[in-house]
Amino acid sequence: MTVHMLYPDSTITRPPDTFHAISDALMAQTSGYAMQWSGRAATALYYAYRVAHLRHTSLDGTPEVIMPAMMCTTAANVAYLAGYQPRFADVDAQGLVTLEHIQARYTPQTIAVVVIHLYGATVDTAPIRAWCNAYNITLIEDMAQAVGAKLADGAWAGSHGHFAVYSFNRTKLLEDGGGALVANDTQTAHALQATQARYPLPAVPPLAHLQMLSASYRNLHHSLVALYRAGEVDRERVSSGFMQLRGAYDALYLRPADPASTLGASWHTLPASLTRRYERAEQYARTLAGGAWTLFDGWRASGVCWRFSLRVPAGTDLINFSEAVRRDGFHVSNLYWAENDFFKPEDACPESTAIAQTIVNLWVDDSVDAGYIARCCESLSRHSGLLMTS
Ligand SMILES: *Cc1c(COP(=O)(O)O)cnc(C)c1O
Repeated sequence: MTVHMLYPDSTITRPPDTFHAISDALMAQTSGYAMQWSGRAATALYYAYRVAHLRHTSLDGTPEVIMPAMMCTTAANVAYLAGYQPRFADVDAQGLVTLEHIQARYTPQTIAVVVIHLYGATVDTAPIRAWCNAYNITLIEDMAQAVGAKLADGAWAGSHGHFAVYSFNRTKLLEDGGGALVANDTQTAHALQATQARYPLPAVPPLAHLQMLSASYRNLHHSLVALYRAGEVDRERVSSGFMQLRGAYDALYLRPADPASTLGASWHTLPASLTRRYERAEQYARTLAGGAWTLFDGWRASGVCWRFSLRVPAGTDLINFSEAVRRDGFHVSNLYWAENDFFKPEDACPESTAIAQTIVNLWVDDSVDAGYIARCCESLSRHSGLLMTS
């Protein structure tokens, strides 16, 4: 198979030889035709949106990209960066976007749909692809949390979209650095090549500057989630404050590939690492069964668990509960808020809002072992009295 390698930054013309294994594997999993390496999944999303727009040259008004409200903010920020309007689709009880929720956000300006295979669990993409084809909409599968995952029909995640987007940056399934975009057919690949020539990457700011911006963005986001939780100001004010500032962070998203990335060398470690993650998820599931929470289980069918998630009952004190578990020394993350409230509060997404206020994410990567998981589950159970509904 010929791997057609593309680089948005012309200073790199050819991948390191160590990248052959990962390129071949990702191209095989997606039946891909061309692969573009960059520094971030954000950059990959940017080019995928540009291609989607290229296919809709005769639009009136601002092009729109539909994405789930339950996710990280990257896909939405990159849409604005490119001059497009993100629209937010709600999700099912396990945080996965569905065709029905996507259809509810369709307008004649829709150029692309992003589906996110959340925490390793996979979205039912076959019907979404058929619908996208019927409307000439570009389907983008965000694989950042689901490399190596399977769809319900047994196909690889990433194989139904026109594009599959990958992140190998910090906290992801491999952390050696980089982002990738796979175009799954010749037409899409040629459009990608044309788009890349037309929209070259900007010069990269100094690393220290990017690190400062990135820390600022994280702090801003956490700070606003806390403000939403505190309920002191209405949603429109938080959103308009956020929207006034978000463009200041645009320099973070467009990054060329790093020719020194060690990703090629670490690729062969992925299958064993996915197995260890799966075993840790099984331990959490066994130990936490029957507790005061609902466990997400989409990782069982997909085979990949990025974070182990549970939902506490609505209306209970999630903040006190997770603080208590943190004080016992365990990583729990719960600082979430439905993205529509930041970018477009009118796109109401009740299930995403409910999940963001009840979800707890637990770690399954190599920073935790069986002893840690046993103690973490013991801590969760010990504090579950805080989850009584009043
Ligand atoms: C982390 C993440 C991204 C962004 O990846 P970068 O490589 O940091 O740009 C996009 N989508 C999802 C679902 C992610 O988890």
